[in-house]
Formats: sequence, structure tokens, C-alpha cells
Amino acid sequence: MFPSRRAFLCWALLPLLAACAAPPAAPLSPAIPTAALTAPARASATPQPSLPPSPTPWGLPERPQYILNVDIDYDAATLHVHEIAVLPNPGGQPLAEVPLIVEPRWLDAFELTALEVNGQDWADYEFAQGVMTITLPEAWATDAALHLELTYLLRLPATPGTLSATERQLHVANWVAALPAYAAGEGWLIHPPGLVGEHLVFPPADFDVTLRSDDDSVMLMAPGARTDLEGGAQFTLPRARAFTWSAGRDFITLVGDADGIPLQVVVYPEHERAGQAALDALAQAVPLYQELFGPYPHEGLMLVEASFTDGLESDAFFFLDQLYFIEYDGTPTNYLTTIAVHEAAHQWWYSAVGNNAALEPWLDEALCTFSELLFYENVHPSLVEWWWYFRIERFRLEGAVNSAIYDQADFLPYVKAVYFLGAHFLDDVRELIGEPNLLAALRDYRQRYDGDIASAEEFFAVLEEHSPVNLDNLRAYYFKP
Ligand SMILES: [Zn+2]
Repeated sequence: MFPSRRAFLCWALLPLLAACAAPPAAPLSPAIPTAALTAPARASATPQPSLPPSPTPWGLPERPQYILNVDIDYDAATLHVHEIAVLPNPGGQPLAEVPLIVEPRWLDAFELTALEVNGQDWADYEFAQGVMTITLPEAWATDAALHLELTYLLRLPATPGTLSATERQLHVANWVAALPAYAAGEGWLIHPPGLVGEHLVFPPADFDVTLRSDDDSVMLMAPGARTDLEGGAQFTLPRARAFTWSAGRDFITLVGDADGIPLQVVVYPEHERAGQAALDALAQAVPLYQELFGPYPHEGLMLVEASFTDGLESDAFFFLDQLYFIEYDGTPTNYLTTIAVHEAAHQWWYSAVGNNAALEPWLDEALCTFSELLFYENVHPSLVEWWWYFRIERFRLEGAVNSAIYDQADFLPYVKAVYFLGAHFLDDVRELIGEPNLLAALRDYRQRYDGDIASAEEFFAVLEEHSPVNLDNLRAYYFKP
């Protein structure tokens, strides 16, 4: 029965919130739930004369290609980046301009030094907060690749965050000047940061990233297939929405395997025992999720211990807060295990099937929280009641599951509505339609929207196809209109 067979309990709230969305570290202006980023922060230089449309000499890729060469000055916390982006037109019509997400601008960490468009120096662009809009020299035809070449400097802030240089390491997330996702009928999916949650929506792309450092003592930790080079390494990661990495001097790497998928857990040396526990949890979670949801979407999975709050999911990679390693108590009844398997589930619900993280964050977060429950039910059945209490029921739950990140100013109310009530909703769906129907719907949803950005309406359409009963009342209870 809904709302739930379990009573909602109120309990003292712990400082650990145990989710996976670290908000930007810098102070932000009040969030606005629109893509209205109008005021240019920097005027563009004189436009060059427009040229007649011409075919580009570069092949037309199936999805965006990013070739990045990064020189790391570790002690100065700066990255010198050379980026080549070869982009297919996602708009279905010729485009006169192209937006790039330049997230480090929110942290004052980005300095552009050169731009070429289709092989020519180009200065007709403007910045508006975290977006760079380039007015193109010629219309971007639907059957032509746009070739951009950018050179920029990233100065990583010292404040711990997803893009930062702390005492232990560099955290390098959302650093690439990248094309946002485009939705037919909606346009570019560009949203400003909220005070909670994540706001970026990217299509899958192919990354070829070379990281170099003059300093041999710097360890590179990055996803994808690795080829060691003189002074660095090259990483190739296909079909990824983001390429997130880290570098540091004092880490150990633990390796494992999940049904042939290589696993790496990279931790501070003092956390080897907790790192091994996280590795063991991933080695159990990934095969289970493959069985339940379909094939794992990448060739490996890397967990890197982080010195910022909570953690961050990325493609074939995630950061996990050192606090979870420090507090590891030798059992699976703690945040280290719950959050590690939550982040692993993001490889299906975020990396494979994307969603609008700003407006419909529940689509991946509720599914990942529910995936934690599936992990405990299958791997640690005696701890299922513990999981319900520890993760969900000790909090007083309220709010609409389909809250946008802009609906909440504090992290705990956001997590309670989107993650915890979201998991409750999915559990109630399971009770109503039966687990075989729910799992069939999840597999179908994954298969149908693999590589896409799915919407809540699309999720419900798949769910209803597999549901012998009407779900309207359940939906009305948990979701706002
Ligand atoms: Zn999450």
C-alpha cells in the first residue's frame, strides 16, 4: 500500500547527508530555473567578415569528439589545456552560433588564450556566466562537423570542491569547454547552478585526453583505456558525458574485477582497508546491476578518494569523500558501502541513460538510491531493515519527488524529497506491480534511452507499459503536478 507500509520516523539528522552531488564551492548568485544567461561578462572582439558556407575537411562524427592535451603544473595548481572539439550539429537545422559550457568560469578559474573555428582564428564570442557563445563564421550545416580549437588556462581554486587543488590532490571535474545536450523542441539544455544538486546536461561524447606533468611523483588517476607516455599518459573514453580525473602524490591503487570489468579503487595509503571494502562492494554491485539493468556501459570503473564533501559521479569514474573512508568500521553498515554502490549505479542512471539533472534530478538519484536497496536485498539480505532505517526512515521525509534543484535551498530537504522519497516511490511501485514488472520496465527504459536524455514522461510511459495496474494515484501522492 502507499504512501508506504513503513512509518516515516523522525530522528536526529546527522551532518553526513550521503548523496553524490557536491554543489559548486564558490558563492553563487540566486539560482534561476531558466536558461536566461544574458548579460555578457566580456564583450567580443571585432567580428571577422562572414564567409560563404563551405564544407569542412573534417569527417562527420556520430557524437562530439574531444581531444585534450593538458600540461599539469601540480604545485601551481594550474592546467594548460589545448582542446580540439569536432562536433556534429545536433539541432536538425543550420545554426549560426554555438554555446559551450565553460563551468570553471563560475569559479573564476578559466582564462581563454586562443580560439580557432574551422581552422581560422576567431574572436566573435561572448561569455555569459558559465556559457561561451561563439557566433560562427558560416552557418553550421546539419551534415557538417564544426571544428573548434581552444587554448586555455585553468587555475584550480584551493577551496575543496569538484574543481579544486587541495593538499592531497587535484580534483578535475567539469573542466572541458563542452557542447551541452540539445533537445528537439526545447533547444540547448543549459541551466545555471542551484544551491543544491547538479545542473549540467551533456550528450555522450568520445574523449581522448593526454595528461602530462614534469613531476614524476604526480600520479594520474583518470578513466578509460590508459597508454603511458613519456611524462604522462593518454586516456581514451568513448560514449562518456564527462571526463573527470584526479592527480596526487600519495595514493595507493587497489585493483579488482567484476565479471571481466576492471575495477580500480585509488585511496590514501592510510585507508587501504576501507578501500578494499569499497572495492569488494563494487565487485558485488556491478555484476548485480548488470543482471538487473543490462550491460555495464564502459570498459572499467575507477573510484578515487576525494578531499571535498560527499563525492561526484562521472563516467567510468567517481569521487568519494575521505570522510566515508575515515568512518569505515569494518562492516557494510555505513556510508562507505551505501554510497559506493549508489555511485556505481550512476553508470546506468546518468552515464548510460541521461536525464535533465537540473529539472528532473530524481530520474537518476531516486533510481540510484533504490539501486542501493536492491544491492542490500541481494548481497546483504540481513541488512535490509538496517538500510531502510539508516538511509531513509530516520529522516522526516517531505517534499515532491519531482523537485528541481532550484526548489530547495538546503541539501538535506533536497535529498529527502528527491532521493529518499524517490526511493520510497519506486519501492511502492514494486509492491503494487510486482518486482518482475518493475525490473522489466527498468531494463526496457535503459535499453530504449541508452545514450539519450530521458524525461520523466518517458520513464512513466515505459513503466505503464509494464504495469498491470494504474499508477496515477501513487504518482499523485509523491509528485507535484
Ligand atoms: Zn547520486
